[in-house]
Amino acid sequence: MNLDYTDAQKTFRDEVRAFLDAKLPERLTDAGRKGRALTKDDHEEWHAILNEKGWLAGSWPEEFGGAGWDAVQRHIFEDETTARGAPRIVPFGVAMLGPVLMKFGSKAQQDHYLPRILDGTDWWCQGYSEPGAGSDLASLRTEAVRDGDHYIVNGQKTWTTLGQYANWIFCLVRTSKEGKPQKGISFLLIDMNSPGVEVRPIVLLDGTAEVNEVWFSDVRVPVENLVGEENKGWTYAKYLLTHERTNIAGVGFANAGLANLKRIARAERAGGRPLIENPHFAARVARVEIDLMAMATTNLRVVSAAAAGNAPGAESSMLKIKGTVIRQEINHLTRSAIGPYAMPFQSEAVEGDNAGAIGPDYGARASGQYFNNRKLSIYGGSNEVQRTIIAKSMLEL
Ligand SMILES: Cc1cc2nc3c(=O)[nH]c(=O)nc-3n(C[C@H](O)[C@H](O)[C@H](O)COP(=O)(O)OP(=O)(O)OC[C@H]3O[C@@H](n4cnc5c(N)ncnc54)[C@H](O)[C@@H]3O)c2cc1C
Repeated sequence: MNLDYTDAQKTFRDEVRAFLDAKLPERLTDAGRKGRALTKDDHEEWHAILNEKGWLAGSWPEEFGGAGWDAVQRHIFEDETTARGAPRIVPFGVAMLGPVLMKFGSKAQQDHYLPRILDGTDWWCQGYSEPGAGSDLASLRTEAVRDGDHYIVNGQKTWTTLGQYANWIFCLVRTSKEGKPQKGISFLLIDMNSPGVEVRPIVLLDGTAEVNEVWFSDVRVPVENLVGEENKGWTYAKYLLTHERTNIAGVGFANAGLANLKRIARAERAGGRPLIENPHFAARVARVEIDLMAMATTNLRVVSAAAAGNAPGAESSMLKIKGTVIRQEINHLTRSAIGPYAMPFQSEAVEGDNAGAIGPDYGARASGQYFNNRKLSIYGGSNEVQRTIIAKSMLEL
């Protein structure tokens, strides 16, 4: 295994850097730095810039309008863009539904939906989770009953990220109650503008509302919106989840967060000296940095194995746990470094209020980010469940 980039990969990395220099709007990176939530327009602007370059769907094959990148190129792109503070590509259409349609969708579905993901016509959201069906997804109850050439859908989804912006939702629905729960699930594409669809915001700890409940009351969905075969949705759902967990380590995000933490710890003072020189605090920063370096190497090992054609197994669970714990620790240390000025989440200052922040400007967003990132260890499969996967598959417990 070779963890060094080849010359071709270094050239690609330079190309990504040059592209970011030229095309990444400062307005968008600035929003991230200041902790301002990105709007729909912000996301769409970045998607359009990437799409123009042919880089919105890096992993899609070229025949579907993608860049056809291998695992290492995808890794380089993710690393460079996240470290630079670029907005993350909204994953629901590009990274989740796209691969499912390419593998299991009909030709008509591929021809219709894939170009609309790329050009931004459609904004997709993910309708998997329900109250009572999160980790135990197979117990989902939202029901779709066949009525001629339609399904009639009734039920409730929850935690639907950015569903307030979406015009389409891909849903897991129950089409049979016979046999094992996994055998009665279908994968359905639902137009959010259909009568009977209602989106209700859920306000999070940081005061934002990026997740929602989605309710379905007698929603009529044409049968041609079924992906693959009826009652085979569990297979497609699991295939999608393997794509959901890409870039799960978030090394670029952690690098950017650590650099920010060090900047703050150099500016803040403790006992008359820069906080970064305080042995106790410096040791805590060093510990998280060492963890991050070890995880980045593990990540490269997994990327290198993937490039050689090996699908990651329990390694993706390891990366999910370590990546999220490290990012949460960085948020925690950042708040500790700022002290009392990090206590309130100053949403007015984050949004650009004339009065500015109370205390240093980096204090205004520290609590918001800390609270928002509590989610990291829950979504994409909670860390407790990932630990169970590792215990079963690697430790054979
Ligand atoms: C911010 C955010 C955004 C999300 N976005 C989406 C989205 O867009 N679309 C979507 O469909 N879903 C989304 N989710 C849902 C997410 O996938 C679920 O929250 C997650 O699967 C956990 O399910 P749950 O919340 O129902 O918790 P539960 O499954 O009820 O778990 C509660 C606790 O019990 C633990 N637990 C459960 N089972 C086990 C077990 N077998 N062994 C050990 N511990 C266990 C869990 O780890 C957790 O700590 C999002 C969640 C969050 C927080």
